[in-house]
Amino acid sequence: MSESITIGVKPDVKAVTLCTDEQYQEMYAASVADPDTFWGEQAQRLDWIKPFTKVKNTDFGGDVSIKWFEDGTLNVCANCVDRHLPERANDVALIWEGDEPDQSQKVTYGELYEKVCKFSNVLKGMGVKKGDRVTIYMPMILEAVYAMLSCARTGAIHSVVFGGFSPDALAGRIEDCDSRFVITADEGLRGSKKVPLKKNVDEAISISGIVEKTLVIKHTGGDIDWAADRDIWYHEAVEDVSADCPPEEMNAEDPLFILYTSGSTGSPKGVLHTTGGYLVWTSMTHQYVFDYKPGEVFWCTADVGWVTGHSYVVYGPLANGATSLVFEGVPTYPDASRFWQVCEKHKVNIFYTAPTALRALMREGDSYVKAADLSSVRLLGSVGEPINPEAWLWYYNVVGQERCPIVDTWWQTETGGVMIAPLPGATPLKPGSATRPFFGVQLALFDNEGKKLEGAASGNLAVTDSWPGQMRTVYGDHARFQQTYFSTYKNTYFTGDGCRRDEDGYYWITGRVDDVINVSGHRMGTAEIESALVAHEAVSEAAVVGYPHDVKGQGIYAYVTPPVGVEPSEELRKELVQWVRHEIGPIATPDLIHFTPGLPKTRSGKIMRRILRKIAENEFSNLGDTSTLADPSIVDSLIEKRLNR
Ligand code: ATP
Ligand code: MG
Repeated sequence: MSESITIGVKPDVKAVTLCTDEQYQEMYAASVADPDTFWGEQAQRLDWIKPFTKVKNTDFGGDVSIKWFEDGTLNVCANCVDRHLPERANDVALIWEGDEPDQSQKVTYGELYEKVCKFSNVLKGMGVKKGDRVTIYMPMILEAVYAMLSCARTGAIHSVVFGGFSPDALAGRIEDCDSRFVITADEGLRGSKKVPLKKNVDEAISISGIVEKTLVIKHTGGDIDWAADRDIWYHEAVEDVSADCPPEEMNAEDPLFILYTSGSTGSPKGVLHTTGGYLVWTSMTHQYVFDYKPGEVFWCTADVGWVTGHSYVVYGPLANGATSLVFEGVPTYPDASRFWQVCEKHKVNIFYTAPTALRALMREGDSYVKAADLSSVRLLGSVGEPINPEAWLWYYNVVGQERCPIVDTWWQTETGGVMIAPLPGATPLKPGSATRPFFGVQLALFDNEGKKLEGAASGNLAVTDSWPGQMRTVYGDHARFQQTYFSTYKNTYFTGDGCRRDEDGYYWITGRVDDVINVSGHRMGTAEIESALVAHEAVSEAAVVGYPHDVKGQGIYAYVTPPVGVEPSEELRKELVQWVRHEIGPIATPDLIHFTPGLPKTRSGKIMRRILRKIAENEFSNLGDTSTLADPSIVDSLIEKRLNR
């Protein structure tokens, strides 16, 4: 449907510089022909304490072992802060924009250095040592970034848990990595609503008894309970510490952090990333994929509770000496113009967000975007889910005013950083495609029988060789790591995503492999049907799943959310059926259309299709892990109104 539109490189697009298409081809070929030479050179972008002599030592077979730069030593915090001081001490490292539009703050690299040294000394004073796990449960305030960098500086392993998670979910994550330290704030703020962070931590600690010390940042000043033997006020502890704290010398393969996946497809996995390879990967992808140039303001809207926040709010941008914007609020507070107002206020150059936010804002109409001066913005990014062409074009035409390239970036918590994305200026864009692999990423498509597919084809997406940013293990459960990612295809990392490769070698993510349905022998990605549905004006969101069907094998069950003001009706149902038949073909005809005011989503905004699948299959007694759902009550109403009984 949308594939015919190709948006080429326009001569007036300011992004073209780093790399032409030919250079991309050349560099890509070099990166896969001789990874040792390529990554050995690329790793020079970091400051090493002791240079490495070995580059790549990875084995996807047997137990799976992944090591990069294994005899080198460095410190991530020193690379993100200290080494910029000679040239950039007075450049802004972080811009904080609070939940309320009148609150913001700027921190230079010089100030960041002092903050992080002091924070690190507070951690040491609490008894935190190299290798200890520290749980960070924070709002999007600057102290969250200081906390992460300070763990890196002192050699502690951070585990950031998104501030929207319940005490139960927090306790589970504290226990899973045996974390004796928690860093939190009294309360968080999101869209003027208070989030009782300290209270949740207290509850989590009463569930899991292992926490010894809690460091509390005073943010809202709200009332909280206090355990004098355990709780420490940050503002008090920081008064007595020195502003000097030498960074710990870390091996390239020492753990940097643990981060739990979103839980869209099953119970969350404790993904472990290490020091050297992760920083090479995030720093290089940040520079190339976002065409980052010194002095620019980079805004990734993700929370630091997700990998996107780790890699593109904190580590990638700071490793490159960039100005990174940290946003505490939500896109719709005080109203739907917030993102665009913030872009104008801080003269944002590069803006990176998720399709779920774009779809929500698109629904509100263009006037909110048009009211803001977006002339500083020159590049737009998307991540988290397939971006349907409808939203892509809105992003391109309305937000980007047809002058900003869009980088649709496909990657996972497990991959550490971007894996498939266009290089702005070099890669002609196709709406809805993440386009081509980044340097060193060797992709393959397999069919369900394990046969590798060549040329234009549709199949299961895998990566056949290691890249520096790859996760090293599931924390405390290496067998689960091997089993989850390396047992489906021999010597290959299996992503769990379905994907189509077109005749130009472009990749189109079609959703999770589990979301592929087979109707009368035709395999179809549910993302395509969803895209067709949301292209209709009476649909603001749609989720499609399969269910057992006597005749077709699988039937198509579509959950549809109409925009505010549109009433579901039998007429609308018929119209949507006709619409999909026309857009894709009779084979994609929805059998059941279930109108609903909302869909079950993870806290990061992804639709939880596995729950929708169970409801559609009329098998909802065991819904699996629902701890990461944003609003569990939606599930009950969906069950009540289910159509397949
Ligand atoms: P879990 O692994 O616990 O089920 P999750 O897969 O949602 O959770 P993440 O690592 O946050 O956890 O998400 C990675 C997934 O998000 C990818 O596997 C892919 O399905 C989807 N994704 C991310 N970016 C894109 C993109 N640009 N286009 C299409 N899909 C994307
Ligand atoms: Mg996943």
